[in-house]
Amino acid sequence: MLKSLQLRFLGGAGTVTGSRHLLEADGRRVLLDCGLFQGLKPLRLRNWAPFPVRPASVEAVVLSHAHLDHSGYLPKLVREGFRGPIYCSAGTRDLCEILLLDSAHLQEADADYLNRHGISRHKPALPLYTVADAQRAIAALRPVAFDETVALPAGLQLRLRRAGHILGAAVVEVDYPGGRLVFSGDLGRYEDPLMPAPQAVAEADYLLVESTYGNRAHPKDDPRDVLAEIIQRAIRRGGTVVIPSFAVGRAQLLLLHLWRLKQAGRIPRDLPVYLDSPMATDAVDVYLRHERDQRLTAAEARAAYGVATYVRDVEQSKALDASAMPKIIVSASGMATGGRVIHHLKHYLRDARNTVLFAGFQAVGTRGAAMLDGAPSVKIHGEYVPVKAELQNLSMLSAHADADEIIRWLRGFSRPPRETFIVHGEPGAADALRLRIQDELGWSCHAAEPGETATLRGAASGSA
Ligand SMILES: [Zn+2]
Repeated sequence: MLKSLQLRFLGGAGTVTGSRHLLEADGRRVLLDCGLFQGLKPLRLRNWAPFPVRPASVEAVVLSHAHLDHSGYLPKLVREGFRGPIYCSAGTRDLCEILLLDSAHLQEADADYLNRHGISRHKPALPLYTVADAQRAIAALRPVAFDETVALPAGLQLRLRRAGHILGAAVVEVDYPGGRLVFSGDLGRYEDPLMPAPQAVAEADYLLVESTYGNRAHPKDDPRDVLAEIIQRAIRRGGTVVIPSFAVGRAQLLLLHLWRLKQAGRIPRDLPVYLDSPMATDAVDVYLRHERDQRLTAAEARAAYGVATYVRDVEQSKALDASAMPKIIVSASGMATGGRVIHHLKHYLRDARNTVLFAGFQAVGTRGAAMLDGAPSVKIHGEYVPVKAELQNLSMLSAHADADEIIRWLRGFSRPPRETFIVHGEPGAADALRLRIQDELGWSCHAAEPGETATLRGAASGSA
């Protein structure tokens, strides 16, 4: 029997990044998610604050999925002394290998840039973590099969259920003597053509539910109709469609849509499609290795991802801009903040025949947001490039459940949890979801506060 069970919200509370929830069972520590704070500078600075407990005292980490706002602090935790296992699905393990190494390269490149230009207060500027730290974190990843039970410290037991969202994403169930804690991670969509629907969970005594879109409904348009129309319009003008895309999840979904549009004859079958992102290409390899984690058969997956020509080296990438033929270029990054898509934008933005098609949410301060806000030009490599191309956004391509879909998932529980903690949402979204859960489900719930500690009742306290 446990004498005490506590849950501390160390991140991902009152914001959508830095997902970190610390479970303390009789003082033994298991961390649920180990995410990076991302976005504006005050948030990013939180990654540099000392971790609230000694990292070496954390015995294990459980990851819901590979996105960096859930996994990207792992190399730092390892750097600061964490030595335990990191449990996650096999798909998450493989995607983390790509994402954590890329994140570490960026951290090193940033520090290097600051040092070369002498523009840091710190001499020398250090990276948050290095590639070597990321490699040690990756070596500690322990794949767990969905629906299997794994022992955690202090008699806790772990199971992962499918969350949809991106490959390998899981809902985390932790059984403790006398009860069960469930953490939604990021919930996917019920009608996602690529990922399975979020799996229903029957029971929880305590529930942590994400609220990214807790106050929003996704547009109901079929993305394929919108995509077909935009592409046909660009082709009629003799233009090229450049799609800045997130490399993991979104790029694969776009390839699937483009393949289905070609199959249906809704866009020309001979229209060239290029995937110009080494990271998205690596992610495709992972998606192909985990066919059971997606809705496609192995043959469909091979055909769908085969719709594109894969551009590996930089010379080939630059050569794409030399051809005037209509084509589709899918390239990262998704908000046009960096990556190869920048070169393509510099070339294609200035011509009204072309289209730049964003593939989802654009955060404040990014080039993507500026363009969609109507900026007449954007600065690329020190040069102001006029924005003449048609601009569109496929905002319905979200990998997140919207408010109705979150409520649908919550209706899968057979009884109300004792308490539901709303996490992973901006305050407005978290509060809107709180109201809906109270009004429509009648559950006790509140938005978790950053730094809040909740005492959970277990068997020892009578589990009343
Ligand atoms: Zn996510």
